Amino acid sequence: MKLKLKCEACGLDNGFADPATGTAFFVNCFTFILVAVVVSAWIEIAMSPSLWVHILVSLPIVLMACVLPLRPLKGWLVNSQFFYKTRRGKIPSGYAAPETATPGADKV
Ligand SMILES: [Zn+2]
Repeated sequence: MKLKLKCEACGLDNGFADPATGTAFFVNCFTFILVAVVVSAWIEIAMSPSLWVHILVSLPIVLMACVLPLRPLKGWLVNSQFFYKTRRGKIPSGYAAPETATPGADKV
């Protein structure tokens, strides 16, 4: 699912947007784990079915719970990047990292 370079409605340049793996992260953390654990555990505890029931019932529910929120979540991430005016980090040319203390150097 690739983001278009320009919005077709308003012409906004989407070059600022970089949701990267944020969408998959949120789906994994909230949707997949919750739905997979809750649905599968409930089916197993309540009915103790055979494995094919999990394949026919749990698997499609988990897949839908993971695929359906991808687009709205990506839209939310891009929106928040636009709202907070996030940009890629840049290190200014000529920047010198501060010297760091070497552990134990003061004891020599
Ligand atoms: Zn637009």
